[in-house]
Amino acid sequence: MGVFYKWGAGRDPGHPEIVDAYDSTLVTAEGEEILDAAAGAAVVNLGHSPPGVADAMAEQAERVGYVSTSHFTTPSVESVGEKLASMTPGSLNAAFFVDSGSEAVESAIKLARDYHVARGEPTREAVIGRWASYHGSTLGALAASGNTGRRTTYVPSLRDWPKIGPAYPYRWDHEGSPEEQAIAAARELERLVRRRGPETVAAFIAEPVGGSSIPATRPHPAYYREIRRICSEYGLLFIADEVMVGFGRTGEPFACEGLGVTPDLMALGKGLSAGYAPISATMVADRVVETLEEHDHSFQHGHTYGGNPISTAVADRVLDRYTEDLFAAVRRRGGRLESTLEPLAESPIVGEVRRVGLQVGVEFVADRETKAPFDPGAAVADRIYEDALENGVYTYPGGGSVDGQAGDHLMLAPPLTVGDDAIETIGEAVVSSVNRVADEEG
Ligand code: PLP
Repeated sequence: MGVFYKWGAGRDPGHPEIVDAYDSTLVTAEGEEILDAAAGAAVVNLGHSPPGVADAMAEQAERVGYVSTSHFTTPSVESVGEKLASMTPGSLNAAFFVDSGSEAVESAIKLARDYHVARGEPTREAVIGRWASYHGSTLGALAASGNTGRRTTYVPSLRDWPKIGPAYPYRWDHEGSPEEQAIAAARELERLVRRRGPETVAAFIAEPVGGSSIPATRPHPAYYREIRRICSEYGLLFIADEVMVGFGRTGEPFACEGLGVTPDLMALGKGLSAGYAPISATMVADRVVETLEEHDHSFQHGHTYGGNPISTAVADRVLDRYTEDLFAAVRRRGGRLESTLEPLAESPIVGEVRRVGLQVGVEFVADRETKAPFDPGAAVADRIYEDALENGVYTYPGGGSVDGQAGDHLMLAPPLTVGDDAIETIGEAVVSSVNRVADEEG
């Protein structure tokens, strides 16, 4: 025994033991090389073992390994806070440090509540989310999430917060131009808020570009323009969850920028340290901070390792690597990855290939006309994942996110630094694994 893995009996695909890693490559104990086309879980933005990070870690560990940020600060905490304030959009000028994406979302949910309580509107508590979304596995973040596969067992333990449909143009049935459809989809939020009563709603949370539930879905910019209007008009805070897509994944520093929307709270994780140390952050807009200060309202929340000096020293080093040159390369590499996948347009089991920056979602359907998904029991995405892994390419499968309304899918999200040869190999492997499973489905 020893380690408890999460898979159910009979489903564990095995866990190759990784003993080394470089660039976009993992090396197993048997010396086999695996191309990491998912950057872990869209984490290892700068590739594996980049120079400088281990030094930053060691230097910090030799000076100060830990202080409680409830009572102290360190140069790297201050530096990362300043860098994030200048990188993130709008007036998101204060960073609250925690250790995982789920905790960054929990902190945002609680801060939204604190904001309304401080302002004298304590009835505002609900956080409206969307179906086919994932904001984390802790109970608050899961309550806000709409990934049914990850929620089902825990529903009795979750706050029953309402949801609207996903920002999922491939499966929208609204009428009109892309812009009109986007506005119609966003107005579902307005109807829900009115029905429930704005005085009960604290916030709306969304992944600006779809992540693990429906990867690389991006609506027309009118969608978030409308969402922003509704949030402002009805007094909701808008929480953007950029845990997966922040820090260049979309070819922009943050996905919100590409969509022209400014959130009040933003959850960040993964790319903040690019996987080299556990750290995440909730970015907080000036007006939220000012409201708490004006009303002398303290935020009763925190985690022992929040703002850990070693993690912030790593993040401090990593943030310097997020340059405009890297974002431009992401856009170019993403285009190249997409063109390697062109043969999938002919595949009878592929409904859509979507891409934003260096994030690709390949959605599988049993019927391309009706867009009917496969029976989850067919485990199509899992079988493609396993086939690609056997051929030395690690991808990220998913599915079951909206009962009967979404196909399963494969996400590709290689390191932002991935080389051209690796891109070609990833594309060829994915196309051949999809074709093999399509033949089996026959
Ligand atoms: N939010 C989004 C959009 C995510 O993709 C994830 C993880 O994949 C989380 C939150 C949760 O992050 P963590 O697994 O670090 O708790």
